[in-house]
Amino acid sequence: MARNPRYDILFEPVRIGPVTARNRFYAVPHAAGMTNAMPHMRAKFRETKAEGGWGVVCTGYVSIDPSSDDAPLPFATLWDDDDIRSHALMTEAVHRHGALAGIELWHGGGSVMNRASRIAPMSPSGTSWMATHVNFMGNQRPRLMNADDIRSLLKWQGEAARRARQAGFDIVYVYAGMGYLPYEFLLPEWNQRTDAYGGSVGNRVRIVRELLEVTHEAVGGKCAVALRISLEELRSRPSDRAPSEAHEVVALLADVPDLWDVKLDSSPTDCPPSRFAPEGSHEPIIGFVKKITARPVVGVGRFTSPDTMAGQIRRGVLDLIGAARPSIADPFLPNKIDQGCEQDIRECIGCNICISSWHDSVPVRCTQNPTIGEEWRRGWHPERIAPAGSASSVLVVGAGPAGLECALALGRRGYQVSVAEAGEDIGGRLRFETRLPGLSGWGRVLDWRRGQLERLNNVDVYRGNRLSAQDILELGNTHVVIATGSRWQRLLYSPLEVPAGHLESAGVFTPDDVAAGARIESPVVVYDFDNYYMGSVLAEALARAGNRVSYVTPAGHASAWGIMSNEQPQVHRALFAAGIALHTLSRVTTFERGAVTLANQFTSAETRLECAALVIVGARLANDALHAALIARPEELVRAGIKSVTRIGDALAPGAIVHAVYSGHRYARELDADPATLTYRRDAPLPAMRSM
Ligand code: ADP
Ligand code: SF4
Repeated sequence: MARNPRYDILFEPVRIGPVTARNRFYAVPHAAGMTNAMPHMRAKFRETKAEGGWGVVCTGYVSIDPSSDDAPLPFATLWDDDDIRSHALMTEAVHRHGALAGIELWHGGGSVMNRASRIAPMSPSGTSWMATHVNFMGNQRPRLMNADDIRSLLKWQGEAARRARQAGFDIVYVYAGMGYLPYEFLLPEWNQRTDAYGGSVGNRVRIVRELLEVTHEAVGGKCAVALRISLEELRSRPSDRAPSEAHEVVALLADVPDLWDVKLDSSPTDCPPSRFAPEGSHEPIIGFVKKITARPVVGVGRFTSPDTMAGQIRRGVLDLIGAARPSIADPFLPNKIDQGCEQDIRECIGCNICISSWHDSVPVRCTQNPTIGEEWRRGWHPERIAPAGSASSVLVVGAGPAGLECALALGRRGYQVSVAEAGEDIGGRLRFETRLPGLSGWGRVLDWRRGQLERLNNVDVYRGNRLSAQDILELGNTHVVIATGSRWQRLLYSPLEVPAGHLESAGVFTPDDVAAGARIESPVVVYDFDNYYMGSVLAEALARAGNRVSYVTPAGHASAWGIMSNEQPQVHRALFAAGIALHTLSRVTTFERGAVTLANQFTSAETRLECAALVIVGARLANDALHAALIARPEELVRAGIKSVTRIGDALAPGAIVHAVYSGHRYARELDADPATLTYRRDAPLPAMRSM
């Protein structure tokens, strides 16, 4: 199909200093969990974006010196010449598809603990980041930087930039964002220096200017020099000379970088979940930059709509459409727009599972795109899949995220697929969850699969079909996939931090009951030891429905795991705004006579809370009865011609939607595959040059 001329503007080349991007699609630097220890995975992951049409593809953060060591978080290094080859693997891969390669050089300053290198960290005034996020806490504080340290920083940046050029990069970054060292110089909380690097905005910006200058010098006009900068805090600070300190900083540096990459300051605001922020949420902060500089500007905003992207360019907000999450959810987003197939874009849902992967220190995962991170180690391509290995027919029981993804990938391989769904509509858990506050965007998981499945005439979906083991035996497909999901339990929670003790009585509910329309009376207690989104989102929904709601959790925060997905700060604000009383470190021990008893998780001290309805958001168990019933009848399976019965998704192991999608996809990839290919390839660092 032909490209819609409305989007031609997105495919105009953009000059960035000495290099030219072939179009305006810019895959910005983002953490992907792949360090120098995984050079092939990393190269293939980024190559796939270049193949998918991104004009620029960048690395994640790359440390310029061992004094910037974020371990155990996964960061890359360019500490010496031995690191060059590892990155060259990526630049060669990206260049094969006509894209430019960018590298985000990074020094963490007082935000890192140097846990592995054991070098005392440093910051402009010895100030440390006292993080509330457990992953970022530490007990090593930075020392104050002296003039020698500043000279060293400039030297490391220059040397790293020279190596970056040698590795084949086209765009080399100075990174003054997100609490890292150059950013620390910009803000007076971090920077109380009385020398030429502290005090006035002109002084505070000096190090950034010098870093840009040494970078220009090191790359010798061969690469573009980009400045990545966080502007949220600076924008909130008044200035005598300009509308804000952010304006002043941008004016002072206006044409020093070849490219401005503008963002916000903390991960939860820079990369907010869709539950709390819409597409394009950065614009009010960064929208002014293009008015000050003549250099191109790139920014992000979870852009998935080509109309929004083209609007950003036409309205003069951005020159390049930056993307981290949309490029993960669909590495082929630009090509799809180019080919007039924008309806095929697998749109990011803004769940931030990708961010949580970095917090977990593992390669990136995505709810929408199960192939991400698997391009090299499992050989999975987001747009291509091997043809069917046999003429088998497959019955998929259950049309939730797992069943739908499985059916789609099997259908694309060419298998004859039947999907049986008990409910009147497909979607499984999404049918209910996407109606909860802030979660409508997650409907893209269902909508995209529904749309794609409708185009396959070898996949038939049967709604309103609850199958029994007998039904399945009679249908007689070659393979049966059980994707029947899971159910929430009425369990309590023991001081040993395991679910223990059933609570069956009138007035006790689970999310499944709420989904089924149970009548919930006020006051409600939502008891959450699942720790992800369901507890807080249900509390919010019940409060919006007019109930008096208390939220109780044995954890220290509401939606405690939500810190991993950047949700937690906003969850607390949302509960507060909805008037929900918060009880942390508390276990529910009894529920009787209109009240629950809470015990403190550590002291067991008891309190009572008025309660007409208790909604327990705790553990889930797999709906695996159908699977058990089938495998108990091996002879009948053989007679029916059924060669395999396999559980996937929540029916195998209840988890987040990302796991269900992955599980369904993996089954489909591996059906009839050579067993020798079913393990993943293990990546390894490239040997150091000096040891060769
Ligand atoms: P997952 O996240 O693993 O995909 P879900 O709970 O979202 O799991 O979806 C499971 C789906 O399976 C639900 O839509 C449910 O209605 C359906 N289902 C459960 N049991 C049967 C059955 N016996 N026959 C057909 N569909 C079923
Ligand atoms: Fe988007 Fe979620 Fe995928 Fe991240 S994990 S790219 S937020 S869909």
